[in-house]
Amino acid sequence: MKQTPAPGLGTPLQYLKGVGPRRAEQLSRKGLATVEDALFFVPLRHEDRTRLTPLRALQPGQAATCSGTIVGLSPPPPGRSRAPFSVLLRDASGYATASWFGGGYLARVLERGQRLVLHGKIARYKGAIVIQQPDYEIVETGEDDRLHTGRLVPVYSTTEGLPQRALRSLMWRIVDAFTRDVPEVLPDAVRARRRLVGLGPALRDAHFPETDAALGAARHRLAFDDFLLLQLGLAILRSRATRARGIAMNPRGELVRRLRASLPYTLTGAQERVWEEIRRDMAAPSPMHRLLQGDVGSGKTIVAALAVLTAVEAGYQAAVMAPTEILAEQHCMTFRQLLEPLGVPVTLLTSSLASRERAARRAALAAGEVPCVVGTHALVQEGVEFRRLGLAVVDEQHRFGVAQRARLKGKGDNPHLLVMTATPIPRTLALTLYGDLDVSVIDELPPGRRPIVTVARTEAKRREIYTFLRGEIAAGRQAYVVYPLVEESEALDLKAATDMAKHLAEDVFPDLTVGLLHGRLGFDEKDAIMRRFKAGEIHILASTTVIEVGIDVPNASVMLVEHAERFGLSQLHQLRGRVGRGPWKSYCVLLAGGRLTEEARRRIDAMTAANDGFRIAEVDLELRGPGEFFGTRQSGLPEFRTADLLRDARILEEARVEAQAIVAADPELRGPAHRALRAGLLARWRGKLALASAG
Ligand code: ADP
Ligand code: MG
Repeated sequence: MKQTPAPGLGTPLQYLKGVGPRRAEQLSRKGLATVEDALFFVPLRHEDRTRLTPLRALQPGQAATCSGTIVGLSPPPPGRSRAPFSVLLRDASGYATASWFGGGYLARVLERGQRLVLHGKIARYKGAIVIQQPDYEIVETGEDDRLHTGRLVPVYSTTEGLPQRALRSLMWRIVDAFTRDVPEVLPDAVRARRRLVGLGPALRDAHFPETDAALGAARHRLAFDDFLLLQLGLAILRSRATRARGIAMNPRGELVRRLRASLPYTLTGAQERVWEEIRRDMAAPSPMHRLLQGDVGSGKTIVAALAVLTAVEAGYQAAVMAPTEILAEQHCMTFRQLLEPLGVPVTLLTSSLASRERAARRAALAAGEVPCVVGTHALVQEGVEFRRLGLAVVDEQHRFGVAQRARLKGKGDNPHLLVMTATPIPRTLALTLYGDLDVSVIDELPPGRRPIVTVARTEAKRREIYTFLRGEIAAGRQAYVVYPLVEESEALDLKAATDMAKHLAEDVFPDLTVGLLHGRLGFDEKDAIMRRFKAGEIHILASTTVIEVGIDVPNASVMLVEHAERFGLSQLHQLRGRVGRGPWKSYCVLLAGGRLTEEARRRIDAMTAANDGFRIAEVDLELRGPGEFFGTRQSGLPEFRTADLLRDARILEEARVEAQAIVAADPELRGPAHRALRAGLLARWRGKLALASAG
């Protein structure tokens, strides 16, 4: 090894022997700049090359690792570049074929006589055993052979020009040279209690384990650290929030009583329970920090209205933030209907208001003349001020990030915070994303709701679908027809929706009233159309996805989704949630054209199979993975280095318990036993946690 400043984890990889500028550049493309980066760059998987499957024993339908010598090559014939490139392999037991689609380049890489180790899915094709699209490695006999064969061999994600073997050899040298000196970050007590291996050995075994058990213990330890750093950060945020001085709101409850008396229904048991939790939070002297979860249509709005009235009666202002203009407008209408009879005026604040009007409303807010405001993210813009903000409500929270909800809260002096979401998520994800919030769940729909009948149809059934729509409308119901973002450009997209609405109005349903709603309409136009639809004057509302969340018109019983294959799963579930809000049997028709991708097929199958938002969320999570599902960037949380939320759910629970215990004993991690942990935490959360830095 060349002379290095200190043999520390911060050593740039380019200082290592055998890493020239070119290799360093390739490594940096994988995000690897330092020794530490490399140590935490855990393999995609390990191949058990102590147990290579003999070629004769390969079973179709399974994935296997095997090895063989190339005895024949068949490149695709000229002019048929889409045919697979295949090679015939032989080992002591027999023969098998390996084949790659798009493998034309292999002609320059593979030759007769080479020995390959392959890993891939086995199939039978025209009677022969074929290893499909395998990962492969050319095995040469060399001095570091023990790394590449005869053991659990790590397989890394590589990049152009960085061969698997070269990367593995480099990793071996790094692991060998540095893991002995990796400092421990966990307090001894935690390690002992959770039976965790040391960080150094864990890093070594995560790359080059001697046994499966060692690999398992290593992964466990690394995942634990990932989760612990996340949960510690969340626990600190939460502990700060509960230690902060808030506003204890204990009004007599006159407004709440009057609103409840005015409702045409009684609250469900679940609504009563969560309202009680919220009421108690708001009465306490520390700020509420609560997530209200409930499937679409479970009745979250009315619970929010009760919270708003409590703040207002206590003499404070309340703000309700929604992710879209249409939803903000609708909420404003709903809140007006509910609150104005009680003498509580409601104001709307969105960016599509004329600037004069907006300025006037801002001034009224700042002067404290407006007790309740409903709006979009326009609420958190600079210049919006409240005189006495006591309650911040964020609806459809999954559309916002941590930063926006913090900004709304920041408009007041520790106001109570209630965030609501209709994207029910598995518990592990909830702990990760909302670990700093208390959670209330409405796990019951209002009585009389019936499951929505969901069907998938193709273009061939269009006329029957129209006939069905007509029948529902004749029976007094209403329908939505939704168009996705089809074109690259919003203008073209709008044109598709406009043309379709025109076609429906003029050719298909000339005797009915068809309305068109899209994001480009001005406030008054949108407002007028929504009002007319709510009043039953519009029979069919053709719309772009602007109605996706929140919209509530109980008389609508049919949701027809055009190009359903283009929507994400949670989007489809939200759209479906626009119907089935009244006592009538409701339908969701997913019109999907052409050939579907595997994923689209699974999304549509999930919709027709399940009505339950939790089940839908689980499938969505499986299909997209946690990163995409909630977009870590959007959520504003630090990324995991090695942990996998789906695989490691149990470890997450353990880490959470430890994080809470640590923060309960030492809220800002000042104790000497927590010094290393604190450094790790600051590094992982970067600016987001702003721990008061110790002297
Ligand atoms: P979401 O939870 O999706 O936001 P909403 O708050 O929009 O649901 O409520 C859906 C519909 O259910 C609304 O029309 C609302 O008036 C109605 N609703 C809410 N609570 C009840 C209840 N306890 N009984 C009957 N209907 C209710
Ligand atoms: Mg809602």
